[in-house]
Amino acid sequence: MPKLNLSQRGRASCFTQSPLTDELEQLLSSRFERPSLRLTPSPYISEKTLNKRWGKLESITDKSQLLDPHTLDNAEAYNKNIEHFIGTVKLPVGLAGPLRVNGLHAKEDYLVPLATTEAALVASYNRGAQLITAAGGASAMLLNEGVTRTPVFAFSNLAQAGQFVAWVVTQYDHFKQVAESTTSHGKLHDININVEGNRVYLVFEFHTGDASGQNMVTIATNEVYHYILEHSPVVPKTSFLDGNLSGDKKPNAHTLRHVRGKKVTAEVILKRELVEKYLHTTPEQMVEFGQMTTTGAALSGGIGVNAHYANALAALYIACGQDAACVSESAVGITRMELTDKGALYACVTLPNIMVGTVGGGTGLPSQKACLDIMGLFGNGKAKALAEVAASICLAGELSIVGAFCAEHFSRAHQKLAR
Ligand code: NAP
Repeated sequence: MPKLNLSQRGRASCFTQSPLTDELEQLLSSRFERPSLRLTPSPYISEKTLNKRWGKLESITDKSQLLDPHTLDNAEAYNKNIEHFIGTVKLPVGLAGPLRVNGLHAKEDYLVPLATTEAALVASYNRGAQLITAAGGASAMLLNEGVTRTPVFAFSNLAQAGQFVAWVVTQYDHFKQVAESTTSHGKLHDININVEGNRVYLVFEFHTGDASGQNMVTIATNEVYHYILEHSPVVPKTSFLDGNLSGDKKPNAHTLRHVRGKKVTAEVILKRELVEKYLHTTPEQMVEFGQMTTTGAALSGGIGVNAHYANALAALYIACGQDAACVSESAVGITRMELTDKGALYACVTLPNIMVGTVGGGTGLPSQKACLDIMGLFGNGKAKALAEVAASICLAGELSIVGAFCAEHFSRAHQKLAR
């Protein structure tokens, strides 16, 4: 492998010598020979397609690590969740808790399943959960709900775009009827209009019951989208089902104040003795850390301020059959810590984009359902509680990691548990 140097330091530090143009071109050029490994293209899981796929793989990997007898017995359960199935990846799952949540919907002491390969993660959330529970629990409040799809329509000029908008605002009741014809739980509850020159973005926002709802709102919006194309008095030049305003799997500043999925805030007040006992530091030190790192977050240009919501959310989403890619928007939010008049620590988190469901998606898969069952949060009527638990476990993690930095335990804990 040639070592190349594009000379300007910091621009391409993987290159350490002058460019060797011919070699570089050769390395990066297209190749058209037939791939040696080709998949059997069938979206459905059957013994025949599994055998065919494994026929090509067995020489390079140990089949039993992925297609163990239990997975094989339950293979059909995965039919609606994966294509080109070859087995399951085993992830360790640990429990953090008990985490006492005093929410509008979550009102239990929860053992929270976290699936991760990161040492120290569960230990840290467990410490935070026990601290919160010793303080009487986290108060948690679901504040808002909504999942969006955002079709975009382009016209020849602004006048046509205006005519289109004038028609759209007369159609809300029709749109609602058309959208809700595709789902018994999804409810279209808001339509927002965004005009940018000769383009119009429509933001359709739904309540999605106990489903996280991405599929539900896509199917419902698609129905309205086609209704619009058939009935609009002005024919758009171009249009697409989604114009990327929805924030699906992308963090964005808009949803920091609004909502995508479920918006939850959670708080706890910790007496000084509890901070000292569980975190080996003081409320003053925690607050000072919070102030300095808030400035750091502003300097980094981040959206919101938090220490590591993504750790809890990724591990919880994977364990409980949520769409793990939604961590990208869910991990946006604000953590704040203050001293109370009595010298205790007030800590709160606000997460406006918790994308969770207790039906649909991957929630009914065997081990994912088992994890939801541990918390008593599988099925109808449980999604709001799951969102409050998700925010509360994030609060636990914020307390624990800030405590670790303040007591200078952060590096030591990782060294001890991960090395
Ligand atoms: P889904 O499994 O597609 O839909 C939920 C289903 O559960 C619906 O059929 C719904 O019926 C039914 N349901 C039964 N009881 C319900 C209740 N109490 N509340 C709500 N629904 C209930 O899941 P989804 O949540 O809409 O979508 C999640 C999946 O979409 C994830 O796997 C995610 O990875 C994927 N995803 C899709 C897109 C996309 O654009 N298509 C984008 C990102 C992610 P009714 O509809 O008849 O009410």
